[in-house]
Amino acid sequence: MSNLERDPQETPCRAGVTTLAGPAPQLLAGRPVPLGRHTVVQRFLPHRERRMVGAWCFVDHFGSDDAASGPGLAIPPHPHTGLQTVSWLLAGEILHRDSLGSTQPVRPGQLNLMTAGRGIAHSERSPAGRPAGLHGVQLWIALPAGVRDGPPAFEHHAQLPVVVLPGMRASLLVGELAGARSPATVHTPLTGADVALDAGASAALPLQEAYEWAVVVLTGAVRVDGCPVPAQTLAYLGRDRGELTLDAAEPARLLLLGGEPFEEELVMWWNFVARSHEEIAQARADWAAGRRFGPVVGDGDDPLPAPPMPMTTLRPRGRAG
Ligand code: MN
Repeated sequence: MSNLERDPQETPCRAGVTTLAGPAPQLLAGRPVPLGRHTVVQRFLPHRERRMVGAWCFVDHFGSDDAASGPGLAIPPHPHTGLQTVSWLLAGEILHRDSLGSTQPVRPGQLNLMTAGRGIAHSERSPAGRPAGLHGVQLWIALPAGVRDGPPAFEHHAQLPVVVLPGMRASLLVGELAGARSPATVHTPLTGADVALDAGASAALPLQEAYEWAVVVLTGAVRVDGCPVPAQTLAYLGRDRGELTLDAAEPARLLLLGGEPFEEELVMWWNFVARSHEEIAQARADWAAGRRFGPVVGDGDDPLPAPPMPMTTLRPRGRAG
């Protein structure tokens, strides 16, 4: 007589199979996208099958590049609307300048959080005298109604809370995790953490069950609730998880992203997050005409021209895909 029972420990990630902690993760690979003149990033969100996780609407991972010998990161002045940018480095250094007059290097362990509101312009560059290597992420957070048309802002947080468990350190970029709370200003219920796992680590983190969650494995490989997730992969976990287990056979680095599902439909085009084709067209026209956004103080380079508007009408889209 054969045993017809499936063992979730052995087949935790086959489609339709349930892991011990809930439905199997949806594994999504990143795709390479050129960024600026000399950098290629892996983009995880938006993805054809998953546009958002909470208010997280954009996830780029770059590096490790040798930024010391080459030109490094060179993103000339460009505009944003309706979002926050989260700049976070694992190695190297980037200099941020913006139209509010901010000039702020960001280094590993520090957070640059820029709130575009109705409009801001900034540049991001590898500064002179930088260390070798550049490795980091840039994330966008969609702003909700009532905030997205508000004033732009910029925050730098040189120190963030760190959740420490045996074999695990989680730097809390935004929101709450395991009783810690980030000082960064966000406008929807949201969590973002950079989790470093030692070889052989096995850690359990409490999760808000009302949030949807994803893990983005940057380096190494981990098991998420028993499911193997390779490097350069986003594992979407859905909602209704009260705990997450992370196991690493080798040293690993991952992002843990979660938030209450963002119910407003978005139009994302170029560097703008809006709600309609008309809003996008207006933002593009304002940038082209030198209105609304202002110059990036101290950046002598020419601003990035906006690409031409698409021939079709941009349609608002929901969070799922
Ligand atoms: Mn930008």
